[in-house]
Parts: sequence; structure tokens; C-alpha cells
Amino acid sequence: MPEPIRQTETIESRDEAERSARILEMSLDAIISVNESGRIVFWNSAARRLYGYTKEEALILDLTSLMPEGYRTKHKEGFARFLKTGKAVIIGHTVELECLKKDGSAFPVELSLSTEKNNEGWIFTAVIRNITERKVAEEREHTQNAVITKANSELTALYKVSSAISGALDLNEILPAILHTVTELDAFKVERKGGIFLVKDGHMELAAHLGHSESFIEMHKGMRVGQCLCGISAMTGELLVSDDSSKDERHTIRYSNMPSHGHVIVPIKDKDGVIGVMYLYTASDEVIDDSTKRLLSSIGEQLGIAIRKTLLYERTKELSLIDHLTGSGNKRMLDIEMNRLFARAKRYSRPFSCMMLDIDRFKLYNDGHGHLAGDIILREVANGIRASIRETDLVARYGGEEFMVMLPETLLGKAALVAEKIRRSVEETLPVTVSIGVCAFSKDMTGPGEMIEAADRLLYSAKEQGRNRIEAG
Ligand code: GH3
Ligand code: MG
Ligand code: MG
Repeated sequence: MPEPIRQTETIESRDEAERSARILEMSLDAIISVNESGRIVFWNSAARRLYGYTKEEALILDLTSLMPEGYRTKHKEGFARFLKTGKAVIIGHTVELECLKKDGSAFPVELSLSTEKNNEGWIFTAVIRNITERKVAEEREHTQNAVITKANSELTALYKVSSAISGALDLNEILPAILHTVTELDAFKVERKGGIFLVKDGHMELAAHLGHSESFIEMHKGMRVGQCLCGISAMTGELLVSDDSSKDERHTIRYSNMPSHGHVIVPIKDKDGVIGVMYLYTASDEVIDDSTKRLLSSIGEQLGIAIRKTLLYERTKELSLIDHLTGSGNKRMLDIEMNRLFARAKRYSRPFSCMMLDIDRFKLYNDGHGHLAGDIILREVANGIRASIRETDLVARYGGEEFMVMLPETLLGKAALVAEKIRRSVEETLPVTVSIGVCAFSKDMTGPGEMIEAADRLLYSAKEQGRNRIEAG
């Protein structure tokens, strides 16, 4: 009785083994078994399709010819180590590596390795899946992510720059804000150092900077358009990249201990052309790619518009304080400056004088020579005053043919000398004369109005006493 039972078992286990072999054969993943001598003992159809070797070829193949050169030594060492210790990190895990086809081309695979022991020793079975398509998709996704991240950081950069620019109307605010913003942005990978030159009468004027020493600033004074890297960018209107400025022949302004650095120089343009440049420092091996260049260029254009707007605003502001006919300050400026200088004199107990000047019998002159000739005289008197005072003194047109001169840090005696100098120069050079009332600040005065009134009284007194004279008090 036991006999038939054994027979049934044998048939069943043979069936089972054949079924397993069929399943392994049908698998879409390559399945390869190797014995402990490194010989291939099982090779399914998927392995044939994947590697290009027939079963017959595979059974006599050196296993290492399935792997690129770089893997071979490691494989041999790992194999030997396993046979010695029975341990290998790769076993029981799925790893990604590269394999070689029969035609020598490499392709990426995912490989899971298992081991079993039979009476002839260890058998290693690898299940191998070609992951070329997955890798391509991953790579594409990675590139797309990088593009999106870059585009995002560029948009952030533009947004931050426009925020820094918008609203402010003072160059002393805008330019440092731009430098801080640009040098802090991830999009550029620049150092927190750099500056902005504005072009004025063919020269490059350093209008703002980050982290420069006094000697550096001194060295760049009087720099011309066309000179050094920044000057070249200002001349050509082109964005300029210098990978290592210490070796760049165009970088002509040099100094000792100049660190090795790269430069990117962005022209700042408005509709009429280049009005300045922004220069940034890069690490000398940093590559500035095309999209970063485009971004920096558009920042240069934004900056150009903002600077132009600011300059116009400043000019308008200046115009509203200046008298058109004579080029001296107007009544508004007079009020502002008198208040400021009076407050300063009072607060710090400093000397301060002022004078009120009036052209003598100017009505007569106008009547005799015409209003236009009178205008020329007014202009000449203003020039005469300016030529006789210091740079820190101020002159403003008070009324029709009256001027106020403000002399900070000046005592009455000195102011009277200046007044006399003005009076004489008008008398000597022009067909009119002037009378002047001079007065000084005293600490019992409550406001600038008192000084103006005092000067006016003294002027009146000078007129009363015959004109073409000064009266100080
Ligand atoms: P006095 O010596 O007393 O100052 O005599 P005056 O004629 O200068 O005095 P008055 O105040 O009577 O006349 C001022 C004249 O200044 C009147 C006007 O013809 C002239 N004037 C005022 N503003 C202007 C101006 O902008 N252009 C010209 N050409 N003349 C002006
Ligand atoms: Mg007059
Ligand atoms: Mg007058």
C-alpha cells in the first residue's frame, strides 16, 4: 500500500516543480539563478529578451559580463565575502544598478536577490526588471521640477525688486534697497557685495554700494564711461559677465590683495539709453546662465524706469524751490531755510546772520530801459551776490527786486563785510546800486520772522539815509 502513495507524491511534486518552472519562465521580469561557482544555472525568456543572450549562451557566460566594468570588482568581493560569511547586504533587498546587454549597451535595472541552499551548495536567484522608462520619466520630472523652482525663484526675485522700487521716490532709499534685495535673492547666487554707478557727464558716480571700504570708493572716483568693466557696460549697454576679474584684462581698476572674484554687470537703462550700471560679485567659478542674465537685464530696466522717475521728481521738487529768472532760491525756499537755520542757531547757540537787499530806484531803471533789460539786471545782481558769498550761504529772491542772503555760522561783523562787498561789486559792475540791511540772530528772538523784520527795518533805514549803502544792527 505505501508504494502507490509514494508514486502519487512523486507525480504531484514533479507537477509542482514543472508548474513553478513554467511560472518562472513566463515571468515578465528576468530571472537568473547562479550557483556558488558563479555559473548561471537558470535563465528565463525575459532574461533572454533583456540581455540578448540565449539560454545556451547564458549557461556558459561569465556572470560579470552582465555588469558594467565599474561593478565587477565589487561584485566579486561581495560574492566571495558571502561564501565565507553567509552574509550580504544586497540579499533580501531591492537595489537599483546598471546592467550590460550582449551588444554592450548599459541600462538601469531594479534587482532583488535571494539565496537558498541545496545539496550542491548555494543558489542565488535574481529577479531583474528593466527600469529605463521609469528612469526617463523620473529624470523628466526632476528637470521639470528644477525648471519650475527656477521660474518660481525668478518671479519672486522680480516681485521683491518691484516691491523695493515701488513707492519710494528717494534714490538714497531705492538704490541700497535694490542692492540688498538682489544680493539676498536665491535666484542669483551672488555675494552680498556690489554697487550702483550712475552716469553723469561721461563719468561713473558711485551712487550706492554694499560693503566697500573708503579706499575702494576713493579709487573709483573720477572713473569714466568706457573704463573698467562697469564703464564698458555703461558704454555698450550690454550685460557683462567676467568669470574671474583678477585675470580679466578689461578689469583695469585693480588693487593689491584683490580677491579672486567674478563680476556680473547689469546696465540700467531708460528710454534714452544707459543711465548707470549695477555690479554684483559672484564666486569666480559661478556660471551665470542665460535665464539669470535675462532676469538681471529686466531688473536693470525696471531700475532704469524707477531712477528716471525719481530724478524727475527730484528735479520738480528742486524747480519748485528755485526762482526761474535768477536761479536763486524762491520765497518757499527762503521760508524753509530761514526756519531751519534759525532753529539750528537757537538750538546749538551758533552764530547766524542774514541780509535783505533791494535794488535802488529799480522802477526808474525799468521805465528807462524796459522790463527785459531790468530782468537781466536782476539776474546779474543775483550772480553778483552768489560770487560774494560762501558755498554754505544761501540766497533767495524775496520779492520783485529784493533778495535775502542767509549766512550760517557768521557773526554780524563778518556779515556786514560780506554785504559791503556785494554792494561795492554791484556798484562797480552794474548800472544800478543796492541797499542792504544786515542783522544777526540773537537768542532772545522767538522766530525767523523777527530776523527778517529786523533786516527789513535796517534796509529801510539804508534807503532813508540815501541808498547805495549798508546798514547793520
Ligand atoms: P527803491 O530804491 O525805493 O527800492 O525804489 P524802487 O523803484 O526799486 O522801488 P519800488 O518798490 O517802487 O519798485 C520796485 C520795482 O521793481 C517795480 C518793478 O518795476 C521792479 N520789478 C519788480 N520785479 C521785477 C521783475 O521781475 N523784473 C523787472 N524787470 N522788474 C521788476
Ligand atoms: Mg527797490
Ligand atoms: Mg523793493
